[in-house]
Amino acid sequence: MKLVYIGLGSNMGDRELLLRHALEKLEEPDIHLLRTSSLYETEPIGLQEQAWFLNLVAEFETTLFPRQLLHRAQRVERELGRKRSVVNGPRTLDIDILLYGQTVMESDELTIPHPRYAERRFVLAPLAELDPKLRDPLTGRTVTEMLNALQGQAVQRRGRL
Ligand code: ADP
Ligand code: MG
Repeated sequence: MKLVYIGLGSNMGDRELLLRHALEKLEEPDIHLLRTSSLYETEPIGLQEQAWFLNLVAEFETTLFPRQLLHRAQRVERELGRKRSVVNGPRTLDIDILLYGQTVMESDELTIPHPRYAERRFVLAPLAELDPKLRDPLTGRTVTEMLNALQGQAVQRRGRL
């Protein structure tokens, strides 16, 4: 059994409903949801001219291997993440594997810890809310230390799902 932290984000119409459905669809006998962070409203990074995101981090326990977990997450993204009406439409649900126990791995398909999570307040703030003492297996830094080292990026806590 591994403890994993998964980041979810949406900037589609009913973002809360999408996140709730995503959490429900991720659950199977081999992966069990333990806790979710508060919701965080966050300014899009990079591509401007799009709506603000709603993000949260969820803590699961699972017997799935990392690649199996990625494929499960990608299936849920496919099922929920695109508007059917628009071919190649905007991606409306993002599911990222942030931490998988203390595992460190890198392949074409999957890098753990997530390669960009240390720079993202919308990931580190909910992670630190769930477990402020959680450590990055690569650097040994806690998520709180990583969060305090960040500058800028507006995130607003928005209550619970
Ligand atoms: P981003 O999450 O950075 O916006 P995408 O969701 O489009 O980008 O993901 C692009 C690719 O990232 C996926 O095809 C997946 O194979 C890869 N990837 C590598 N590491 C991870 C990870 N830890 N969690 C999720 N996807 C990952
Ligand atoms: Mg992603």
